[in-house]
Amino acid sequence: MAMTIAFDNSYAQLPDAFFTLLAPTAVKSPKLLAFNDNLAKVMGIDAGELPDLAAVFGGNQTPSGAMPLAQLYAGHQFGNFNPQLGDGRAILLGEVVGTDGIRRDIQLKGSGQTPYSRMGDGRAWLGPVLREYVVSEAMHALGIPTTRALAAVSTGEDIWREQGAMPGAVLTRVAQSHLRVGTFQVFAHRGEVDHLRVLTDYAIKRHYPDATGPMELLRKVCAAQAALIPAWMSVGFIHGVMNTDNCTISGETIDYGPCAFMDGFHQNRVFSSIDQQGRYAFGNQPNIAVWNMAQLATSLIQLFKDKDAAVEEATEIVHAMPAQIEANWLDRFAAKIGISKPRTEDSDLIDRLLGLMQNDGADFANTFNSLCKPNARDQFANREAFDAWAENWQNRIKDEPDPQSRMQTANPQIIPRNHRIEQMIEAAVAGDLAPFHRLMAALAKPFENTDPDLQRPPSQEEIVPATFCG
Ligand code: AMP
Ligand code: MG
Ligand code: MG
Repeated sequence: MAMTIAFDNSYAQLPDAFFTLLAPTAVKSPKLLAFNDNLAKVMGIDAGELPDLAAVFGGNQTPSGAMPLAQLYAGHQFGNFNPQLGDGRAILLGEVVGTDGIRRDIQLKGSGQTPYSRMGDGRAWLGPVLREYVVSEAMHALGIPTTRALAAVSTGEDIWREQGAMPGAVLTRVAQSHLRVGTFQVFAHRGEVDHLRVLTDYAIKRHYPDATGPMELLRKVCAAQAALIPAWMSVGFIHGVMNTDNCTISGETIDYGPCAFMDGFHQNRVFSSIDQQGRYAFGNQPNIAVWNMAQLATSLIQLFKDKDAAVEEATEIVHAMPAQIEANWLDRFAAKIGISKPRTEDSDLIDRLLGLMQNDGADFANTFNSLCKPNARDQFANREAFDAWAENWQNRIKDEPDPQSRMQTANPQIIPRNHRIEQMIEAAVAGDLAPFHRLMAALAKPFENTDPDLQRPPSQEEIVPATFCG
C-alpha cells in the first residue's frame, strides 16, 4: 500500500525567504535501526502501511504530500552572533496534525548538504543519532518538554569525524515546531520587519493562539523557558549548547549534541568538549535562558513604532524571568525532598543538601533516590554533615501528607547515564543494538527500577568526561 502520512504543511506556505526547497540527498543503503511506534500512532502514521520505512526515513524516497525544505535561521553561538545559520544537515519533510490535535514537524537530520551547510558534510554519524534518540525519548518519559525521535536509519556510508571513519545515520526528529530564537534573529538582523511580522503571527498562531501580539508572545516564551530549565536541572541535565538557535519558541528541549545527565553533582559541571569557559555549565543554565530571551526581546522590539516604550515593556518581561525560574526551581527541588507546598525558606534547605552533595561529589540521581531509604547517608563522605541536615529535613516534612510518594514521582530511578550511552554507541557501531533496546526499555519507565544495574554510577574506568557534537 502507498505511503500514508497525512501531511498538512504550513511552514512551506510562508514567504520564500524563510527556507530553501530541497529534497534529502539519497543514501547508499538505508537500514531501519529504530522506529517509534507509539509516537507514530499519535501522529496518525500507520507503520503497517509504510512499505519502506528505511527508504523514507533515510531520505531516499520522498513521501507523497511532503514539501521538503531547509529552514533559515541565525543565532548566537557561545555569545557570538552568526547572521546566517540554517538547517545545514536537516530537511523538514512537512507537518502532520496528530490524533491529539497537535501539529508536529517531521524533520530528517543528517540528510545531506543544504545551502546552509557552510563547511559541514550535511551528515550525522550513528553515535549522536542514537544518543539523541535515547536521550530525547528519555526526556519525554520524564515529562520534560522535548523534541522526539520517530526513526533512526543507518545509511551504509562512512562519515569522517575526529575519530576517523564512522557509520552514517539519519535521525527523524519530531517537534511541535523548529522555530527558534534564531529564526527571529535572522530577520531582525537584516531589518526585514515584514518577514519578522509574518513570523511572529505564525508563531503565535501555532504555539500561543491566546497571545495578543509580540509582547504577549515574548511573555509566553519566557514562561515556557522558565519552566523548562528547572525541569532540566531537577534531573541533573546539562544541555551543553544553549545557543539561541538551539532555543525553541515552543519551549521544547532541542539539539541533543554535547548534552549529559550528571553523575557526581557539581554546579559548575560541564560536559561539552567545546565549552571551555563553562558558559553552559549546569548551574549557569538559568542565566543563559534569560540571556537568550533577551535576544528574542531585542528582535521583537523591531516590530514596534514606539521603540522606547517597547524596550521598557520587554525589559520588564525578561527581568521577571529569574524570579519565575527560581519559583519553578523551588517547586521541582522541594518535590524531590518530599515537600508539596514549598515555602521561600525551603530553598536554604535544598541549597544545603546540594552543597553537601557538591562537596562529596555525591551521585545526583542516586542521592535523591536514597532519601526515601534508610541508607541515604551512605551517599556522603561527610556523614555527620548529612545527619545534621537530615534532622532539619525530617523536621520540615513531618507534617507533609505523603512525602514518600511525592519523592517517588519527582526522583527518577533510571536516567540515561553518559557511560551507558557511550557503551550503547560502541555496541551499535559493532552491529549490536541490544544495549540500545535495553536502555530504551528501562528509560520508558524512569520512575520504576526495572533494571537496577542501570542505576549504577560509572566505575573509574567507565567515566566519560566529555561529550562531543556530532
Ligand atoms: P548545532 O551546534 O548542532 O546547533 O549546529 C549549528 C549549525 O551547524 C546548525 O545550523 C547545523 O545545521 C549546522 N551543522 C552542524 N553539523 C553539521 C554538518 N555535519 N553539516 C552541515 N551543517 C552542520
Ligand atoms: Mg542546533
Ligand atoms: Mg547539534
